[in-house]
Amino acid sequence: MISGLSVPDYARPQTLNEALRLLAGAGWRILAGGTDLYPTAGARLAGPVLDLTAVPDLSGLHLGQGLRIGAATPWAALLRADLPPALRALQQAARQVGGRQVQASGTIGGNLCNASPAADGVPPLLALGAEVELASAAASRRLPLDRFLLGPRQTALRPDELLVAVHIPDRALRGRSSFLKLGARSHLVISIAMVAVRLVVEDGRIAEAAVGVGACGPVARRLPRVEAALVGALASDAADRVQDADVGASLGPIDDVRATAAYRRRAAAELVRRAVREALA
Ligand SMILES: Cc1cc2nc3c(=O)[nH]c(=O)nc-3n(C[C@H](O)[C@H](O)[C@H](O)COP(=O)(O)OP(=O)(O)OC[C@H]3O[C@@H](n4cnc5c(N)ncnc54)[C@H](O)[C@@H]3O)c2cc1C
Repeated sequence: MISGLSVPDYARPQTLNEALRLLAGAGWRILAGGTDLYPTAGARLAGPVLDLTAVPDLSGLHLGQGLRIGAATPWAALLRADLPPALRALQQAARQVGGRQVQASGTIGGNLCNASPAADGVPPLLALGAEVELASAAASRRLPLDRFLLGPRQTALRPDELLVAVHIPDRALRGRSSFLKLGARSHLVISIAMVAVRLVVEDGRIAEAAVGVGACGPVARRLPRVEAALVGALASDAADRVQDADVGASLGPIDDVRATAAYRRRAAAELVRRAVREALA
């Protein structure tokens, strides 16, 4: 117990209802894998901790009409899952989140709720048109991912809500996808830019295109001008339709310690072209 408070300083609920009921009370710090929470807070981790790792409803994948991914599903479980080719980009991103220890405990929900501009899970989920399911003891709601992520470390999550699951709509399970990440070295690195592309090809032409780019601005985003340029292109020369100007226009990249805006603009455009080729290969 925390002195002076009538709440325990740690709880590990066994059901979603129990977790939501607890969350309606005193200011809990939510813990999933802890791979963002502990490095950020360290010894200063204050407040009672609500550990989500024992709630079955928050974990695992269910493929039916679309795909439901429990928020506390670790990256390693996503990597091992047998999923359609449209999900390949997400699995490639999972393989690049830290090393194996981080993938074993770090979760997809923690990646989204931490809301880092460089969160590798976000571009593939944007390209999949993902929605997030949020719940409190009183109600639940769904939001498109781009309305959940509001800025660096800012989300639409209310203090009494949990991120329960990520939903990929059935229509986004079509096609093939690819994820590419650029960092200062090949592994265990914060992205300078990362790109996810999902393409549906019909009769040799691109029928649907979704492109998500991250680590170039405050939040990752889709590139509608690039997507429009890809639709209708012959698959054989689709990558040549990706223009630096279209990428830059949608992206508005930033300067920071990792790269300049000019470098990011060119790098992101080249990553999109490569991801298009890889998705179609
Ligand atoms: C060495 C190392 C390397 C890393 N490399 C990468 C990398 O390459 N790419 C990358 O994207 N990330 C990387 N990360 C960051 C981290 O591993 C991921 O973002 C991971 O997915 C976070 O998940 P978690 O379960 O550990 O989150 P936690 O640390 O448990 O939680 C993160 C935040 O989300 C909140 N939260 C968690 N789950 C929920 C929920 N269901 N509902 C509401 N709030 C919730 C927590 O309160 C906290 O504020 C790295 C971290 C480390 C330590």
